[in-house]
Amino acid sequence: MSGFRGAVTVDGPSGTGKSSVARGVAARLGAAYLDTGAMYRAATIAVLDAGVDPEDAAAVARVVAAARIEIGTEPGTERVEVDGTDVAVRIRGADATRWVSAVSAVPAVRRQLVEQQRALVAGRDAVVVEGRDIGTVVLPDATLKIYLTAAPEIRAQRRARQLGLTDAAEIDALAADLRRRDEYDSSRADSPLRPAEDAVVVDTSELSRTAVIDRIVALADSTVAAGGRA
Ligand code: C5P
Repeated sequence: MSGFRGAVTVDGPSGTGKSSVARGVAARLGAAYLDTGAMYRAATIAVLDAGVDPEDAAAVARVVAAARIEIGTEPGTERVEVDGTDVAVRIRGADATRWVSAVSAVPAVRRQLVEQQRALVAGRDAVVVEGRDIGTVVLPDATLKIYLTAAPEIRAQRRARQLGLTDAAEIDALAADLRRRDEYDSSRADSPLRPAEDAVVVDTSELSRTAVIDRIVALADSTVAAGGRA
């Protein structure tokens, strides 16, 4: 077991292997794990179920403020609930994926979920938190910040494999959706997707999942050798 204590942030666009890497790092470090993307996806389910327009920021803020979003922090299992209903499967569906960028661009939604994220992390000995703005906004004093990237065509292939898609037209549509979400997430006014100045950028295009995890665990362990928390 690693002697790591503190927070590791894992940010970057989708298709970089972020979730499976972050879970793997948490398991290796014996740390808790928080998937903040799942929280924005759960908020999106609340908005869709309420029947409001996901592009109506005021209505979105109202619905999300009233929703109880609960998320597990075990790296080995996924627990996501909205008002007591399990939405772990639905948050990965096409509707949630289509609308999550619009919902997550609403400042009031971000304030609410960032506060919840900080509360979930507070007091933990060791935690790995993945998202888009964790190193820049949510946990600016994290012990170790990682930013994952990968070539766009590799990211589309990985997502297609995860979703079991083989049809060329479907894969093209998926690549277009990734580009649309990146553009939206990187250009929004509130907490855009970008590496923190002190993040270690890891290009995962040519690396296996295990190689990326090994690299991050080694970096985390080197913070222990250097005297612990930043
Ligand atoms: O990581 P995942 O693909 O599940 O994230 C879904 C969406 O949630 C992202 O495209 C982004 O719009 C939003 N998100 C965010 N901030 C985070 C995590 C996710 O805005 N910290």
